[in-house]
Amino acid sequence: MDRSRYPRGWRRISNRYRFEVANGICEQCGVKHGTVYPKGPDLKCAYPATRIVIVFLNAAHRYHNTDSSDDEDLIALCPRCHARYDMDDILSKKVYGMNHAGPQQLKLFDQ
Ligand SMILES: [Zn+2]
Repeated sequence: MDRSRYPRGWRRISNRYRFEVANGICEQCGVKHGTVYPKGPDLKCAYPATRIVIVFLNAAHRYHNTDSSDDEDLIALCPRCHARYDMDDILSKKVYGMNHAGPQQLKLFDQ
């Protein structure tokens, strides 16, 4: 996490959003902050079942816009959903770059 991209008081903003607005629950999958998943299969959880996992809820910026920390621009996510959310953004930027390459950009492969 690059703290320079976040506003002053981010810890307070994050805590308030995660626990007062989102009630300590991931807004994507519904898992609760502090949930402990023991070894063994858990049908309600998509976490790896080979180790103990303690869910630590994150506050993330919707649409990856760190300019605003208004409630409507934030989302509470468990680490797994946060990683998926960020990965979707990374992949969409790569696809955008592939589809919008300028004429000066060399292609790595012929299609
Ligand atoms: Zn989740």
